[in-house]
Amino acid sequence: MSKTTNKPRLTELTEPVATRTSPAIIPRPEHTISRKHISRAALKVLYQLHEAGHQAFLVGGAVRDLLLGGRPKDFDVATDAEPETIRALFRSSRIIGRRFRLVHVRFGREIIEVATFRADARDTQEGTTESDDKGRLLRDNAYGAIDDDVWRRDFTVNALYYNIADFSVWDYVGGVADIQKSRLSLIGDPETRLREDPVRTLRAVRFSAKLGFEPDEPLRKAMAEHRGLLKDVPAARLFDEFLKLFQAGFASKSYRALREHAVFRVLFPDASKGLAATDGDKFEHFIQMALDNTDKRVADNRPVTPMFLIAVFLWWPIKARARALQEDDGMTPTQALGQATFECLARQQSIIAIPRRFTVPLREMLTLQPRFQRTRGGRSMGFLEHRRFRAAYDFMLLRTEIGEVDEEIAKFWTDVQEQDRSAREQSFGMRHDTTRTKAPRKRRRRRRRKPSGDGGSAD
Ligand code: ATP
Ligand code: MG
Repeated sequence: MSKTTNKPRLTELTEPVATRTSPAIIPRPEHTISRKHISRAALKVLYQLHEAGHQAFLVGGAVRDLLLGGRPKDFDVATDAEPETIRALFRSSRIIGRRFRLVHVRFGREIIEVATFRADARDTQEGTTESDDKGRLLRDNAYGAIDDDVWRRDFTVNALYYNIADFSVWDYVGGVADIQKSRLSLIGDPETRLREDPVRTLRAVRFSAKLGFEPDEPLRKAMAEHRGLLKDVPAARLFDEFLKLFQAGFASKSYRALREHAVFRVLFPDASKGLAATDGDKFEHFIQMALDNTDKRVADNRPVTPMFLIAVFLWWPIKARARALQEDDGMTPTQALGQATFECLARQQSIIAIPRRFTVPLREMLTLQPRFQRTRGGRSMGFLEHRRFRAAYDFMLLRTEIGEVDEEIAKFWTDVQEQDRSAREQSFGMRHDTTRTKAPRKRRRRRRRKPSGDGGSAD
């Protein structure tokens, strides 16, 4: 058996908030979690902590998913060892986080997150926690024991512990029963828990989409009341949540659940107005197709980029703004799209921080759309070589589905991609010698400007 540490329990200093009961302990023969399904890296961490005399549990989503018979995507470990102790036990490990201090232990490409048991924020000594005027926790680093830690977790189904000492599952909160009933239930008072961390609303939406679990009535009510608090969450954290909702193979279900709980409009207010417009049905269909494509790509192990779905969500407001800029300010379609995208993205960024590595290609992908209308000449043909052509093409195909682009045009750009050079030149209505007469002229100009000659050639 593992020994417990003898440091004083911070929670004993004040009245406990939660009723501490003893856990229901489900012995190995009575549950289905097998070490076969736990990653070798996670097992190593668990055993090594255990051998060093600490408690070591697999916890959170991994236990939940293993009980559901699924394959967890990551393994989290909870222990009574403090971060510095954990750090000293594992060679390739580092301490991360400020709000929560954790240790990342690396085994090749896999990272195991090891967290020290934490005490309930409201139970602990002053100075270890910090919250803002709305009750949101900013810093939360008071350590405790497993029976403190459990009350800080979000949903009962996420608060199960698998003990490496004897392979039993510890259940303080009725999590196993909730898994069997496919029910999402926040631990403690839902209102307080959502105020403490509004992201829990998004997590509820995500688990209801991913697992098909239903939020129970108190959670539903609290979500409806507090979804607006998501606006105060740091935009960078919301981008992380966006990725978890939309890049993990259940984007379509996530979108449905976000709409159902009226959270979509908090995250994407402009898109939401577009959906309420007279042609909102068309927009809805457009979004739905993009979500289905995304899920299909993930299922086929093809890469997905968040910029595509963000562009899809913003397409209606961007189009509307671009139209106004063309009519009122006399901009060209390309200029108007560039400016409209810039403005809409800036507004969106105040809610969800989208890194520049996605906003730049997004803007490019959208401003390229008018170029599909031109199918004659060398410059049009050169579009095929543009580094953003493929993304712009996929976006154009989606627009074709809702009648924004002619089927003929879409077919043209599909066909030319398959053609060899001479067939292409014909498709773009070019004479074979046009490129040959142009090339030498270009070279001459260049030489005159750079008399030293750096060996670079125009072709
Ligand atoms: P998945 O990894 O499948 O997305 P998960 O439940 O493992 O789901 P993580 O974000 O990996 O989610 O978090 C691990 C565990 O940490 C959760 O199961 C939960 O117990 C706890 N947790 C995570 N985020 C919060 C939060 N915002 N509030 C309270 N507990 C949380
Ligand atoms: Mg997890």
